[in-house]
Amino acid sequence: MFYIAFLFICKSLFAQVPVNANEREDEAIYQKVDALISEMTLEEKVGQMTNISLMAIAEGDFWNKRDTVILDTAKMRDLLGNFHVGSVQNLGTYPFSPREWRQNIEIIQDYVKSQTRLKIPVLYAIDAVHGANYSAGSTLFPHQLGMAATWSRDLVEKGAAITSYEIRASGIPMNYAPVLDVCKQPLWGRIFETFGEDTYLTSQLGLATIKGAQGDNQSNPYSSFVCLKHFLAYGAPTNGKDRSPVNLSYRKLRQDYLPPFRAAIDAGALAIMISSAAINGIPSHADEYLITKLLKQELGFRGFTISDWEDVSNLVKTHQVAATEKEAVMLAVNAGLDMCMEPYDASFASDLIELVNEGAVKTSRIDDAVRRILYVKFKIGLFDTIQTDSDLYMDYGSPAFAESSYNAAAESITLLKNTNSQLPLGKNEKVLVTGVASNSLNYLNGAWSRTWSGVDTTFNEWEKETILEAIQNTIGRENSIYAQGTSYDSDVNTKQAIEKAAQADRIIICLGEIPATEKPSDIDALDFPNAQINLVKQLAATGKPITLVLVEARPRIIREIEPLAESILMAYLPGNEGGRAIADVLYGVINPSGKLPITYPKYNNSLWAYDHTRADERDKGFGYDAFDPQYAFGFGLSYTDFAYSDLKISNDTLFSDDSLFVSVKVTNIGSREGKEIVQLYSADQFASIVPTVKQLRRFEKINLQPAETKTVQFSLHPKDLAFVNAKNEWITEPGAFTLMIDTLEVQFLYQESSPKIENLPETMTKRRKKK
Ligand code: BGC
Repeated sequence: MFYIAFLFICKSLFAQVPVNANEREDEAIYQKVDALISEMTLEEKVGQMTNISLMAIAEGDFWNKRDTVILDTAKMRDLLGNFHVGSVQNLGTYPFSPREWRQNIEIIQDYVKSQTRLKIPVLYAIDAVHGANYSAGSTLFPHQLGMAATWSRDLVEKGAAITSYEIRASGIPMNYAPVLDVCKQPLWGRIFETFGEDTYLTSQLGLATIKGAQGDNQSNPYSSFVCLKHFLAYGAPTNGKDRSPVNLSYRKLRQDYLPPFRAAIDAGALAIMISSAAINGIPSHADEYLITKLLKQELGFRGFTISDWEDVSNLVKTHQVAATEKEAVMLAVNAGLDMCMEPYDASFASDLIELVNEGAVKTSRIDDAVRRILYVKFKIGLFDTIQTDSDLYMDYGSPAFAESSYNAAAESITLLKNTNSQLPLGKNEKVLVTGVASNSLNYLNGAWSRTWSGVDTTFNEWEKETILEAIQNTIGRENSIYAQGTSYDSDVNTKQAIEKAAQADRIIICLGEIPATEKPSDIDALDFPNAQINLVKQLAATGKPITLVLVEARPRIIREIEPLAESILMAYLPGNEGGRAIADVLYGVINPSGKLPITYPKYNNSLWAYDHTRADERDKGFGYDAFDPQYAFGFGLSYTDFAYSDLKISNDTLFSDDSLFVSVKVTNIGSREGKEIVQLYSADQFASIVPTVKQLRRFEKINLQPAETKTVQFSLHPKDLAFVNAKNEWITEPGAFTLMIDTLEVQFLYQESSPKIENLPETMTKRRKKK
């Protein structure tokens, strides 16, 4: 009794006292923040909530193409001085060197330091979505979809750490990345920027990104801080077009799209960009339920939210939920938006000041937004270390960093077909290399590479190898014949390619997509343009064996040409080292280990993710064979073979307060060392909401020597088997579950804690048909 009373007294005494170093640091930060806010005028506060583009304070017109950017003192005086703008982002039409970045950012910080009353440093942010892609000479990694195909938390973490290093070398502390939009809509032109269609894989790789980017201490000179995007379900446009409406139940939103954001917030993410789309008719930027109730209150997000590009104005222009810009500002800020990315001017700030003075937006809302923004500025050390010293960044663009990008590209490449072990190729054979992606660094890098569109060849690094150059370097120029064949959608010299094929033993055709993102990436169908399809068909008619290399931002339909190729590689957008990595896979230096992070569709109008329901599989003959993708999620071949055996579980019954241990043996039964991604799926046999046929629960990447066996173990907790029910609550329902690894499966019962009931029948492990 005495003990309980003592505990109670202690608890009340210390209830408000921070318990750990982090909380103590936060408390100290909030004291500084509150002191600062108490000194700020309304204009200064609203300025902190305003984010403009660098071009708004540069000489010349906003969209002018320049070869040098000079900051304009009058524009700085207006925007940074009079409007107190607190955040700047983006770049012009060419990538700065790290030095130029630092100089420009220094000018901005010096300006606010010397010319503004409170000297609050400006928060600079950039889209470094596959490396510090807007800094000249930086390391360009595969885009996120390729990184996801590695299924490697380590490679993703390393990539994020190098990206952080290189944006910090450029003086930039904040990155508009990672993209945590789960994407089950392969038409969407930005699927290449995501970790693919699965919620768990996206969550795991999101966590790896945050670990690599933010490290343990966000104020160290190599860490950047992440801005998750785009909240929520931006990757689920119903019609497949960018920034178009999302129609999804809240149940699905919570179950499939929210978890990666929740996990990232718990791991310390401090900024979130709101999605440009409208969900069920409510534009996310005006959605109080989404921003305030769900994100801030339910998920406990303490950082700040930022709009996407011009998306407050888009409440008028695109979504038509506000009649004027001022009304749009009111809707967005009252919904919980903290910072507005209005790239061109400070109209947001003027409108907001008026709204507060008229009582349409409360001062408490403004204070809340500013408190969140200033908390982040203090937390990341912006007040202490505004400048970064170039000597700290001697590894910028180094061969060691390029090697990390190469490793990621090499492990992302996914071998989709290899009839009669046609690959790896022999170095003595003569090959014809052809196709629009065969001799282009831009096709390998895609959008967000030195420029937003990624199509400008001016900024390519001449020493990086295209696929053709890497093949030439591997087998000699005399053995590699080249003809481009086609552009993206028209014939260039298909006839010449056919003629040259006569001299070759085999043909490597590299199909591809013009670099594009956002609206320019919209397409109406996933088919490859006829010119590229015809190139394959006509070359197939020569009878020479064909290898297809798919350099794709999204899975383009290959149904007609797939039978014409003996081997097929999916390369995604593999980045600057992609050419080398592809050649090394083709010639066997690398044993491919990538696995698809998306379902590769066979038909334009059958676009289902792997975690569909059984009713989706119902076929015309009333069987369950309608799900017929070109290649399944998680699929990818190797130059060796793996055998799975002995799938075991620790118990036939899992109780709610317990864990289930799962183990499986994997043996390399081929003759080469290889990496395998062991994937554990579960299926709920019956549930109150139609269950999915399977759901990824765990994965592990292992390396095996020939004849080596490893036992891989996973543990599962009841919450790993949960789904969102009709009341929008996560629930694990008692009943029978199946666990699947490769073609093995085992069943168990989940039961809420109580004495064990009868076990499942004897044969727990059986073989299943491989999809
Ligand atoms: C994109 C965002 C990006 C922002 C800033 C927007 O148009 O949708 O992903 O972070 O621009 O460049």
